[in-house]
Amino acid sequence: MQDLSDRIIQTAPKSVPRRRVGRLHGPRRLGQVVLGVLFVLLPLTNGLRLDVRRDTFYFAWHKTAAHDLFLLFWVSLLAVAVGLTVAFLYGRLWCGWACPQTAASDFAESLRKRLDQALKTRPGKPRFRLSRTLWGLGIAAMAWSSGLVLACYWFAPAEVWAAALAPASDPAPALTVYLSAAVLTVDMLWLRRRFCTHVCPYGPLLGTVADQNTLAVRYLTERGGECIGCHQCEVDCPMGIDIKEGVGQHGCISCGECVDSCHVVLGRRGTPGLIAFRYGTAPDRAMSALTLRQKLGLWDARRWAVFLTVPLCLGVVLWLLFGHGPLSASLTASGAMARTPADVRNGYLLTVVSGQPQVSTLALSVIGLPGATVEPPAVRVQPRDSRTLPIVIHAPAGTPPGRTRLTLRVSRGTDAQNLTAIFYAPRP
Ligand code: SF4
Ligand code: SF4
Repeated sequence: MQDLSDRIIQTAPKSVPRRRVGRLHGPRRLGQVVLGVLFVLLPLTNGLRLDVRRDTFYFAWHKTAAHDLFLLFWVSLLAVAVGLTVAFLYGRLWCGWACPQTAASDFAESLRKRLDQALKTRPGKPRFRLSRTLWGLGIAAMAWSSGLVLACYWFAPAEVWAAALAPASDPAPALTVYLSAAVLTVDMLWLRRRFCTHVCPYGPLLGTVADQNTLAVRYLTERGGECIGCHQCEVDCPMGIDIKEGVGQHGCISCGECVDSCHVVLGRRGTPGLIAFRYGTAPDRAMSALTLRQKLGLWDARRWAVFLTVPLCLGVVLWLLFGHGPLSASLTASGAMARTPADVRNGYLLTVVSGQPQVSTLALSVIGLPGATVEPPAVRVQPRDSRTLPIVIHAPAGTPPGRTRLTLRVSRGTDAQNLTAIFYAPRP
């Protein structure tokens, strides 16, 4: 395995890909467009948003309290499970097909190439400065738009828009927009693929979990004699890699552009391409020869174990979203107590947290103090919200002076919490 990062930097200007026609390029671009649309729509439609000002977490178009740590924990665990499964089974497929950094680099390089073509220019030719100026402006506009969307993941979209137009009026969302835009502009103008090879930890981390059964783009060395040496696979590689030098090279992002290149070049001669996605390096791993389980990457027990964490975490998240979420409550004495001709009363502060997706009505009752009642007898809690309110326990007027240990039962159907408290009856 060879580290080609230095070569990538040197060859970066030449890595602008030609127009490609292939089997994988179209689906890859379509996938990037779909993910881009999702990136914009998710915060705008409350599909995914953590509103830091309203202490509200939106997930899957459900509104929850940001302090619903149980749900946040399982959503985070689900994201980790999906990431680990994709990395373990499919190697760097994420990098080439779904990573926002690759999409941003593809966009920047594609825009630069199209502008050069439209203005019929290249380095040293007339209108080259104009082309690069327009390119910079296009990148800045895209970075600003992306900064707006990113800020909408943390603030209400209306607040973000108002702050972007008048930053002094609301500095927090404005800073989020303009700092994000500045970072993205630098990234798309200068970093691009260098980020993947020099900054991103995903590639090195993947090296610790990938093995001979991980999906990767491979040059079919067993058919090496059929290569016509056209170098098209190298020219079209956005990372400036020669895949013929070996599988699993550090800079390879499994985009599959070289697969298309060779397929097109050799296809004109009636020969199948020499580069393909394969599980491992064994020559007999052609996709057409694999079972469905193997095609899905489930080669061994370790992969099954990692893969099964996804439905497990997803099940818990769905249960938390659509099922009966947990109920918790706590009770503290407020110190208020009185004996009147009608009754003896003690005051408490009750806190209830409902994990239910609907409004809950919680019934309150007293156990252990004969004839006692609670005021109010029921409490309403908003979906996935908490509420703290004062309650009063009334005991009959004839209750003897002294301390009594009682239980306050907070119930929602069969779901219930028993809270113990001390009831103090003062002397008449
Ligand atoms: S070697 Fe092929 S799969 Fe790897 S980055 Fe280059 S074009 Fe993409
Ligand atoms: S595109 Fe195919 S035929 Fe051309 S150099 Fe690459 S591997 Fe060889």
